[in-house]
Amino acid sequence: MSVTVRWAPSPTGKIHLGNARPALLNWFFARRHGGRYVLRMDDTDLARSSREFADGIEADLQWLGVEPDLLVRQSDRNALYDAARDQLIAAGRLYPCYETEEELDRKRARARLLGKPPIYDRAALELTAEDRARLEAEGRTPHWRFRLDGRPVHFDDLIKGPQTVNTASMSDPVLIRGDGTYLYTLPSVVDDIDLGISHVIRGEDHVSNTGTQIEIFEALGGNVPVFGHHNLLTDALGQGFSKRLGSQSISDFRAEGYEPLAIAIVATLTGTSLAIEPYESLDAIAEKLDFSMVSHGSARFDPAELDTLNARLLHTMPYDVAAPRLSARGLEGEAMWLLLRENLAKFPEIAEWAKLVTGPVEPVVADEDRDFLALAKALLPPEPWDETTWGHWTNALKTSTGRKGKALFLPLRMALTGRHDGPELKSLLVLLGRKVCLDRLP
Ligand code: GLU
Repeated sequence: MSVTVRWAPSPTGKIHLGNARPALLNWFFARRHGGRYVLRMDDTDLARSSREFADGIEADLQWLGVEPDLLVRQSDRNALYDAARDQLIAAGRLYPCYETEEELDRKRARARLLGKPPIYDRAALELTAEDRARLEAEGRTPHWRFRLDGRPVHFDDLIKGPQTVNTASMSDPVLIRGDGTYLYTLPSVVDDIDLGISHVIRGEDHVSNTGTQIEIFEALGGNVPVFGHHNLLTDALGQGFSKRLGSQSISDFRAEGYEPLAIAIVATLTGTSLAIEPYESLDAIAEKLDFSMVSHGSARFDPAELDTLNARLLHTMPYDVAAPRLSARGLEGEAMWLLLRENLAKFPEIAEWAKLVTGPVEPVVADEDRDFLALAKALLPPEPWDETTWGHWTNALKTSTGRKGKALFLPLRMALTGRHDGPELKSLLVLLGRKVCLDRLP
């Protein structure tokens, strides 16, 4: 079967780690099967959706490394939904309802009192043409419900295994609001059919929707895709991420200097049997991650794990990967990168660390070390220098002053770099060269 997947965010806010999970799981699946990836903006809720959010989502997805083959916006596709609406009405599967929210609340309360499940009683199915005309004359506009079959709907979930959703225990879902706009449920099915979606991979909060939607696929005579529902990512407190709170959006992580690969790894491998560890690329994850590895339990984001991973990715990042990003900051040099990368928690910190090599450095010299540093300066070996130079120099100093350990090394570090921590001095010395060292030593 040729594979076409879609990721279908609603552009009602910035996307967060929880949204990145299906975005990437779909991408991995498409990559593994040589399939197509559709980015679908679910923007039927015109009041809450905006083009600005949609553009932001596109930019975030690109930053994560996902390249959709096609972008569609539901707001451009109303004609398709109208045709499906008409088809369902003609088939007797979509019917107009006139109850207000208050009337529905009362019905639900009454059902509860009687110990019945609060599902819609289908009273609207009994309305005659005259009843409808009267209600409309009162100024009511209908919302439209899909008449469910009310049966156990079975599907074989790619991630969770065989599933059954009994639509008999559900209210007939509203597909069209009173103002004529579509809710998500119908456009999603219509698009999945029209775009030839073979696999729908989404969060497990959609399992019961899947029962409803399979009935709609069948009512429209479309191919039912294969479904896979993954566990949801929660924040460190075990709460769902929320677009509206703007909590930990992907663009926040980007602005803070996190690696897109670190975000991708944490967003997808948390709550799977694979370890959170460095991967070379999204394709390398795609090759390893099989849906059987996605746990059925919850997946809790651990910010400390992200920080550790981000640093590990930087500490092993090859120069050819770093080079374009270094040159965007006016930096270059493989030896410098290999020396400094181990100090990075986030890539942008390279700008500060590079100053140890390029200067300016404000040497720090304690009064009691002045004589020692003067001697160090005098004993600085002649060039050419290599990685053994540091050893020769400090051994000579040790012999002449009796200093050792911290008393020997720290004043040298403070004078040469202006700080008490940092990269290995034996390599830094070679990068600096004799002239710069002479300038920095008092
Ligand atoms: N817009 C829906 C959501 O964000 C898409 C769900 C789906 O993948 O069908 O939840």
